Amino acid sequence: MATPRSAVPPDAPRAVPIDAAHVKARARALGADLVGIASAATLNAFPPDPRWPQTPERISPYCRSVIVIAQRIPVGAFRCRTNTPVQYMDMLVLRKMDKVAYRLAAELEAAGHPSFVTASQETEWTLKRASYGRLSTRHLGVEAGLGTLGLEVNILTPEFGPRVYLTGILTELELEPDRRITEQVCIGESCSRCLHSCPADAVLHWGISKRDCATEAQEFGFAQIAGFFERFIDADPATRQAMVVSRDLFGFWQGLLRVVGSFGDCPRCLAVCPVGNDYHAHLAGPQKEIPEKTPEKAALARKYKADRAAHEAGGADLPGLSEWNRRWVGEDGYQGMVARQLQAFKAAQREREAALAAAAGKET
Ligand code: SF4
Ligand code: SF4
Repeated sequence: MATPRSAVPPDAPRAVPIDAAHVKARARALGADLVGIASAATLNAFPPDPRWPQTPERISPYCRSVIVIAQRIPVGAFRCRTNTPVQYMDMLVLRKMDKVAYRLAAELEAAGHPSFVTASQETEWTLKRASYGRLSTRHLGVEAGLGTLGLEVNILTPEFGPRVYLTGILTELELEPDRRITEQVCIGESCSRCLHSCPADAVLHWGISKRDCATEAQEFGFAQIAGFFERFIDADPATRQAMVVSRDLFGFWQGLLRVVGSFGDCPRCLAVCPVGNDYHAHLAGPQKEIPEKTPEKAALARKYKADRAAHEAGGADLPGLSEWNRRWVGEDGYQGMVARQLQAFKAAQREREAALAAAAGKET
């Protein structure tokens, strides 16, 4: 007689109950700078763009929660004369983040809760053909209560502004989700520093032209590789010979080797964003002036401001702030978060200086 088959394999570990507080404490202990939790049901109900749904249920029917971790990009790289240090730091940050996420997933699985990590930088070819992952990590971050989207639709965290990378750990564990931040973290149109700094004019009104951004941020990315080989195929022999030893081909090789140049190449909108104490402490000086700012960009920022006012008054349509998209920008609008943060930062700085002066006085 055949032995009845159990639904659970005999060697499956008994699941240990784990709550959200434990998961967050472990993520931080493993090295995550920020951690939040989003409900898979909410993510399934609110895909960033329902025409091309980036939802957990398309990946796994068993996913109940997504643990979102963020890793900050050290601020020193944004104080340099060239973009290269940020590009290399990006790669190190991504490697660290993947390790933290992997270890957390492994711990959950060892406790009996199947879990896995999504690739944070990937494109799902069947959905779209440019920087469109199976999940949108910045939207995951918003749903997990880590920040809101900015004018250039980067996620802005109150702690580190947009100078972060995020990834998601999909788990079958049901965890209490975090609440979304409904206050707009981004200062908005009256700031527009990201727009002023953008060398590719890619910053739209609560949106981005990925195609234009890629010309700077993915200097040696997929579109550039495809374009290079199209030109190579049509070139005469002498030109081909020159192309084989060109800077472009070297850039592609370096991109394969270290990912440097493939994406995240342009740090300008990250460097100038005044959200986060890392900005107040180390970037407010070196990034105060924006050399790329032109009268045309300033005029565009004024137009965005006028359009926003008209939109709020119930007039003009503004796709970036549609009823659907507003969820990720912050329904309550900007209420002075950055100004409050700056005041608190300066007060803490004064206290520190007074304490140091008092300590120095005691020593003399
Ligand atoms: S990464 Fe660079 S090119 Fe892309 S939007 Fe930001 S500033 Fe513009
Ligand atoms: S630079 Fe200003 S407008 Fe742009 S995302 Fe940051 S706060 Fe928002």
